[in-house]
Amino acid sequence: MNTLKLGGTDLEISEVGFGGIPIMPLPKTEAVAIIKYCFERGITFFDTANMYLTSEEKIGSALETVRDKVVIATKTTQRDASGAAAHIDTSLKQLKTDWIDIYQFHNVSNKDALEQILAPQGAYEAVCKARDAGKIRFIGISSHSISTAMEALKTDLFQTLQFPFNFIENDPENELFPFACQHNIGIIAMKPLGGGLLERADLCFGFLQQHPHVVPIPGIRANNEADEIIQLYRHPQPLSKSDLKEMKNIQTVLGERFCHRCEYCMPCEQGVQIPSVLIFQSAAKRLSPEGVSAWLGKAMESVAQCIECGQCEEKCPYNLPIADLLKENLALFKEIEERRPPWK
Ligand code: SF4
Ligand code: SF4
Repeated sequence: MNTLKLGGTDLEISEVGFGGIPIMPLPKTEAVAIIKYCFERGITFFDTANMYLTSEEKIGSALETVRDKVVIATKTTQRDASGAAAHIDTSLKQLKTDWIDIYQFHNVSNKDALEQILAPQGAYEAVCKARDAGKIRFIGISSHSISTAMEALKTDLFQTLQFPFNFIENDPENELFPFACQHNIGIIAMKPLGGGLLERADLCFGFLQQHPHVVPIPGIRANNEADEIIQLYRHPQPLSKSDLKEMKNIQTVLGERFCHRCEYCMPCEQGVQIPSVLIFQSAAKRLSPEGVSAWLGKAMESVAQCIECGQCEEKCPYNLPIADLLKENLALFKEIEERRPPWK
């Protein structure tokens, strides 16, 4: 596996990393075995988050003995200093390490969240303190909003950016990623497979390989998935004309219903957690019924509060039929809940 230096950091990482979401529902021994399998085959970059339940603990257990040979990134959803400080200590403990290579502010997708983090007593202060104490090496940010991410990068306070990027969600190519490159900010691509909605890995990684400065972190939950991805990186193939045609078809079909999680539709006055509801279908493909219920169950219940006022649809830059999509995702959630054994 080839390696690269991530932006202006001194972190040398494999050209494809490991995303820590899909290992959440797996039994610990199974998850640990998959992580080790990936490491043994050249993957040296592992991304997780405090929010991903057992993911940090599994990654920590798998990589404890090779800690100095891997780069670990994790995240906090906390926006104030005391909350972030507590999350850092929890992550260090769960990851079984003395340091975190990249500590990211999780899902900073609106102006308020960015302002809270950077305010006096905000989370950024705690992360700087932890960096000065040697607990953190580099500070990063993850976002689903181009405008908020641009604003964040312009502060010059973040060394890495994590953003969704795949051939459906390719907007960052226009302004965000060129800006990050010019400023030597390391780029990590979340959702390289469209959050599980894009089934052809060859197309997804063929697209990403056209952006060699971007490091994708696909979620991997089985050895055969790791094999397929590693093979695509060991023997990259240029996209053919028919591949490009197929990608265009998929863009057309999915593009009209694909939530980019930019949060421009938020907040909903009725409390509907719109982006979380709209990713339910892709999450259900990647997680077990128990895992997806634990993660998104509360968001799905919020759909009952929708009064179909239409305000969210007016704000959505992708013109998504949000009210219909809420109903579709809710129906799928109910179907999965009904199939789930009652004792689980
Ligand atoms: S529904 Fe539209 S505005 Fe809301 S998060 Fe999804 S893409 Fe963005
Ligand atoms: S249509 Fe429903 S989800 Fe959208 S803003 Fe109105 S109440 Fe909220």
